[in-house]
Amino acid sequence: MGLVVQKYGGTSVKDAERVMNVAKRITDTYKAGNDVVVAVSAQGDTTDDLIAKGMEINPNASKREMDMLLSTGEQISISLLAMAIEKLGFPVISLTGWQAGFKTDTHYGAARIKRIDTERLRSELDKRRIVIVAGFQGLDKYDDITTLGRGGSDTSAVALAAALHADVCEIYTDVDGVYTTDPRICKTAYKLDDISYDEMLELASLGANVLHNRSVEMAKKYNVKLSVRSSLNNNEGTYVKEVDQVEKMVVRGVTRDNDVARIALCGVEDTPGKAFVIFRMIAKNGISVDLIIQSIGSNGKKDISFTVAEAELEKTLELLEENKSTIKYNEIKWTKDVSKVSIVGAGMVNNSGVAATMFEALYDAHININMIATSEIKISVLVDRKDAERAVVAIHDKFLLN
Ligand code: ADP
Ligand code: ASP
Ligand code: MG
Repeated sequence: MGLVVQKYGGTSVKDAERVMNVAKRITDTYKAGNDVVVAVSAQGDTTDDLIAKGMEINPNASKREMDMLLSTGEQISISLLAMAIEKLGFPVISLTGWQAGFKTDTHYGAARIKRIDTERLRSELDKRRIVIVAGFQGLDKYDDITTLGRGGSDTSAVALAAALHADVCEIYTDVDGVYTTDPRICKTAYKLDDISYDEMLELASLGANVLHNRSVEMAKKYNVKLSVRSSLNNNEGTYVKEVDQVEKMVVRGVTRDNDVARIALCGVEDTPGKAFVIFRMIAKNGISVDLIIQSIGSNGKKDISFTVAEAELEKTLELLEENKSTIKYNEIKWTKDVSKVSIVGAGMVNNSGVAATMFEALYDAHININMIATSEIKISVLVDRKDAERAVVAIHDKFLLN
């Protein structure tokens, strides 16, 4: 008995039958004597559909209006879920993000939660009500609605668990837990029993969308024990926690991220300070650069290539073109037909040869590597998008089978 926070994703509430299924699971938890607070996502593809609707009318709509639109998806699912729980005969109330006290910064479309004012939540719990909260949304200092970025309902759930000092935060989704790689891409992927916050944070940041990366960041910060499991069965899920005795696996997971574009500046004048000028200009415009490589110069010229998120491509290209005379380069080449494939594992620090093994897997599969980046617990390569899924499988099977 205690306070349980649960989160149900879009597929878990996609239609009336699934909503009833979730209502049953929630009331079972309540019947066992727990206080229950639930964060819910929009049903099925609702958020994608809302984005499409907005774009149809105005592709350059302000982010503020986009958030106003997107927040409606979750408002539908909380009310439907509360109605389902009423039907089962339990006391329940649904709350929007702002009714639940979510205060965020003003970064529309990717807002960060600053705090949750918990009075309302507490008073509803004191009345022994099940509380259903809209995920993915909050209110900024102007009293405007914000959203937390795609997949942000996970973060809403962890924030609730942290603010209410919940005993556990259960993330219910359409897979049995966190797998060694996306089970939709790789048939041989298998579920991990547990994973450390740091490893999970890397996996989530590198494309494993089973958890929103900020939810993991927050869980680590506030020491919220997370369990990721299926809303469709009772299988034991994956625990995300501080794992001191990391299992004897060097690599814990493989990810793919398609949200990348590569830009190459060819024939850049080979003088000191060029990289500084280019990347300071990009950073000043709020654009994050990921992988970078610079070729060895010849004839006083060099090439500098780097990647940005797809959504930043246009802006970056414009910036580089506007500043052609300051930077001094011959031409820009760019492509969106690339993906970043990464391996993650805390055990990599103490093992040499991990990178070589990864490259061997790609070589065996005849996949060309465009760029490479390594850090203590991850290695990423950029490959052609058409090769990405094969790369994931090849690398996964090299490191993680048996
Ligand atoms: P929800 O709507 O419940 O938030 P998501 O679609 O956001 O669900 O996340 C679940 C999906 O994440 C799975 O269906 C799976 O395809 C994908 N996924 C990617 N990487 C992994 C991984 N390493 N483990 C489990 N699922 C993964
Ligand atoms: N509905 C939002 C999305 O689709 C938030 C979420 O599902 O976590 O991104
Ligand atoms: Mg999700």
